[in-house]
Amino acid sequence: MSYGDEGLLARAERTGRGIALETLTGIRERARLRSPQRTTLHSLPFAQLGSFIAYKAKRAGVPVVYVDPAYTSQECSQCHHTARHNRPDQARFSCRVCGFVDHADHNASHNIRQRGWMVWVCGVQSTAPVLTLIA
Ligand SMILES: [Zn+2]
Repeated sequence: MSYGDEGLLARAERTGRGIALETLTGIRERARLRSPQRTTLHSLPFAQLGSFIAYKAKRAGVPVVYVDPAYTSQECSQCHHTARHNRPDQARFSCRVCGFVDHADHNASHNIRQRGWMVWVCGVQSTAPVLTLIA
């Protein structure tokens, strides 16, 4: 992850934004996929990072939403075509439909952001319990 010299939370506070995190299983899955040679045990720091971010965000009054992690790395952030073949390798994303090319993690982060936005909007406007949307 790279947020420049400014921390993620500081940036969210300054720009009045929230933070979208993948649910824990998503974080574990991503960590496992990123480093196939590592065991699930080694992905624990990623889960702890998520918990830490959520804790700090709550203290700072920055909203946090949790999104469904399914296929965030296989979905095109531009046209939303989702296919395993969009991901030729760990680093690259290349959409088979619209031709969009990006770094795989960067494309996935766009998807997480878009899903986070949907959760946020639905949570604010819907009278349905928010927990059903972020579970
Ligand atoms: Zn596409």
